[in-house]
Amino acid sequence: MRYILALDQGTTSSRAVLVGEDGVPVAIAQEEFPQHYPRPGWVEHDPEDIWRSQLACARGCLERARISPSQVVAIGVANQRETTLIWDRATGRPLHNAIVWQCRRSAPICEELKASGLAEVVRSRTGLVLDPYFSATKLMWLLRNVPQLREKALHGEALFGTVDTYLIWRLSGGRLHITDPSNASRTMLFNLTSLRWDDELLEAFGIPREMLPEVRPSSSVYGEADPALLGARVPIASAIGDQQAALFGQGCFAPGQAKNTYGTGCFLLLNVGQEPIFPANGLLGTVAWDLGRGATYALEGSVFVAGAAIQWLRDELGIIASARESEELAATVADTGGVYFVPAFVGLGAPYWDPHARGVIAGLTRGTSRAHIVRAALEAICYQTRDVLEAMVREGAQKAALLRADGGAAQNNLLLQLQADILGLPIERPRYTEVTALGAAFLAGLAVGLWPGLDAVASLRAVDRIFEPRLDRRSRDARYEKWCRAVRLAMNWASPDEA
Ligand code: ADP
Repeated sequence: MRYILALDQGTTSSRAVLVGEDGVPVAIAQEEFPQHYPRPGWVEHDPEDIWRSQLACARGCLERARISPSQVVAIGVANQRETTLIWDRATGRPLHNAIVWQCRRSAPICEELKASGLAEVVRSRTGLVLDPYFSATKLMWLLRNVPQLREKALHGEALFGTVDTYLIWRLSGGRLHITDPSNASRTMLFNLTSLRWDDELLEAFGIPREMLPEVRPSSSVYGEADPALLGARVPIASAIGDQQAALFGQGCFAPGQAKNTYGTGCFLLLNVGQEPIFPANGLLGTVAWDLGRGATYALEGSVFVAGAAIQWLRDELGIIASARESEELAATVADTGGVYFVPAFVGLGAPYWDPHARGVIAGLTRGTSRAHIVRAALEAICYQTRDVLEAMVREGAQKAALLRADGGAAQNNLLLQLQADILGLPIERPRYTEVTALGAAFLAGLAVGLWPGLDAVASLRAVDRIFEPRLDRRSRDARYEKWCRAVRLAMNWASPDEA
């Protein structure tokens, strides 16, 4: 048996998954690492923690599976996106902590750029919203605040990378400084049409090109891992952002195929094919992957509060003891009794994009019970997903015929049944839920010829369960209309200085 070692470097933990040539994950290792919050709204990681935890997981995984490193035919990398690192080319030493995607420190820089009219330029070239979320303004912040960084960068002595780039740099013993188009497309420096770093944006942002990695396909043998690390010269053969990895791991290879990850928030990605879409209304246009024959693109929409609403019911209201209990309790009532819950705790994301929105529970009566409220929270996850899918169709994307579900909350059967009912679409849950690692593994396996092509990879996928819609169209749309009314109640609530 031959294996792929997939690294899944996430925001709060690193994971490694060993995937057999039959597509079955045989061993998993996971390690959490510290989060740093130097000021309110700022989030950092120590790059050494990222690397140490990731390497420990990779080794742990091989030990657990009791296989020889020579049976590992490739390493694939999936990673938290947008997080920004800088390091010294000669010593490999980080020049600052990693600035994590959640970090808002570059908000004032974004305001400056908006004032100089760059928001539309950014949208029309990168597919993104001009926001601190993406790497570019984090890197600008570093260039302004780390002494001598600009000089070093101009002399090729300081390197920039997202987490994929940093891990591959470390894995290769400092020989490879590369990224892939899916990660590059989250930096706000990458031109979605030419699939190159955008020189005009680099100039407008004052970022030296010398510090950027080379962009290589998402599935390709980039080089070999230093044998001192894992005990063999294993080829490093894929790099892909975690959400795009999940899209690939869910087998969404064709236009119109979509996956939704039900976690703290939701990340919905829809494959839109070989032409990029540059959306308005808070959706993002992004590269899904590049297999070496040009890019496949995706539309992405995120919901800020999904599973987090269930946590809120558990931790703040105390009306459930565990997230899992939400299923049992919500199933004790036939419907929400007319209750709608808009969990706009931090404003609303796509397609409303209203930072001043706040949460609302509407339609309460004397008969409302905690079961109704819990059910309304589950439905809210589903309605928000419908909001995003409808916005995607308005952008001209092909409508999905089925939605593939993953993430922690996708274990909730009632949630997925409600989702099928509210969308009028079947929802499919895969047998192996480690879809992010599977995506990186599939891409790496394709690069080294472990599988001959996408059809072979598609045949490795196994389905756990499909939830068929049971609600007729009229009831579905009537409820959705009520949801839209509840959203209007939530919008524009906080005063400008509160957001
Ligand atoms: P993340 O990767 O975003 O941290 P996970 O994919 O681990 O999240 O999912 C955790 C989230 O899913 C939590 O917000 C939790 O409330 C929610 N969740 C977990 N299990 C269930 C369940 N059975 N029903 C509903 N929500 C759940």
